Amino acid sequence: MMKLKKGKLLIDQHNKNYMYGKKFGGNYVPETLKKPIEDLTNLFEKLRYNKKFLNERDYYFKNYVGVPTPFFKLNNLTKHLGGAQIWCKQVSKANGGAHKIYNATVHALLCKRAKKKYIIGDTGAGYAGKMLSMAAKKFGLKCKIFMGTKDIVRQAVNCRAMRKNGAEIVPVNSGSRTLVDAVSECMRYWVSNNDTTSMCVGSTVGPNIFIKICAWSTAQISRELIVQVKKEFGKVPKKLKLINCIGGGSSAMGFWNEFIDYDKNQVELIGVEAGGPKDSKRHAAPLTNGAKIGVLHGALQYVIQDAEGQIEETESISAGLDYPGVSPLHCLLKDSKRARYTSATDEEALAAFKLISKLEKVRPSLEPAHAFAEAIKIAPRLNKDTIIAVNSCGDAKKDMNIIKKRLGCSL
Ligand SMILES: *Cc1c(COP(=O)(O)O)cnc(C)c1O
Repeated sequence: MMKLKKGKLLIDQHNKNYMYGKKFGGNYVPETLKKPIEDLTNLFEKLRYNKKFLNERDYYFKNYVGVPTPFFKLNNLTKHLGGAQIWCKQVSKANGGAHKIYNATVHALLCKRAKKKYIIGDTGAGYAGKMLSMAAKKFGLKCKIFMGTKDIVRQAVNCRAMRKNGAEIVPVNSGSRTLVDAVSECMRYWVSNNDTTSMCVGSTVGPNIFIKICAWSTAQISRELIVQVKKEFGKVPKKLKLINCIGGGSSAMGFWNEFIDYDKNQVELIGVEAGGPKDSKRHAAPLTNGAKIGVLHGALQYVIQDAEGQIEETESISAGLDYPGVSPLHCLLKDSKRARYTSATDEEALAAFKLISKLEKVRPSLEPAHAFAEAIKIAPRLNKDTIIAVNSCGDAKKDMNIIKKRLGCSL
């Protein structure tokens, strides 16, 4: 079993080859990408300890992203389930309605510091692209978003938003015409334009430096949460469970970061992957379903693949979770047994959304609805001294059409 080091940030627990637990991560990129990656690494490693930069980050987190986000008890849901207390960290109150704005803002700040005018990124479902286009607009940067042509058709709403923010969408027509190909194309462009252009990856995936910057950015969530928890309960409770949905894994890393050193019997970390439609075999759940290790996005990780190692397309009601791989950081947390991973089906996520909308004022998007589904499953058999906190990392407004179609209700 892999062991974690206490007192050291998880993002820094790699060896000199950027491997976590010798099995995950690394920089599996073409030789030509080494220089841009080295430049970005040097910049970030210097700035993350620079007081002025930290003040700048905190200023924009407060005044642009809008932190701290609320933390409150879901009284009616708790009463309804009759077991553990269920609390909500409403990260969806952040600017743009989800946590991707933390990472996008930090990348925009790094881009400014590097005196570059252009920022580029890849996107699948379109949310990472949308948030990057927002941050680019805020900081006066020109933005290009690489996107597979299949996704451009599927995600027309987000494409419109990106263009409205002044971003150019670069259509990628190669391979499966989805995220995997958009990533390759974006990296190729970065190699040729590194002098003028910064690159952002939208989750805790990709070459090591992108994992680091992203997890370092979302860690803001648990810096707030630990203060809020101590204020509400006087201390970190004896039984605390932190439940988060897992796509690439950036919101979960942000939600858990400050709690990783706690004993798992005190603070349990529970990650919920997308189980897909209940009869489907194409789950976006590499940690739950015993997927093999492979390279995706330039890093070794558990990834959904066929017998020949070809990455397989997955299926989920929530576009944000529909990703065949997962952050090497979560692979490490799984193998060290610090976190427990499970999945919820499309139907369970929809039922969770429906119940919460009936009982509470919160409207979680379909991604956090997966996390709420797990909370609803486990709460009844736990006692009221157990505190379950769920990261409601997205707002349901973006999922309105699909919710209407599947549940026949409006919001
Ligand atoms: C992108 C997204 C996710 C999945 O990404 P993570 O990196 O796992 O957080 C989850 N929820 C929402 C609302 C998203 O936009």
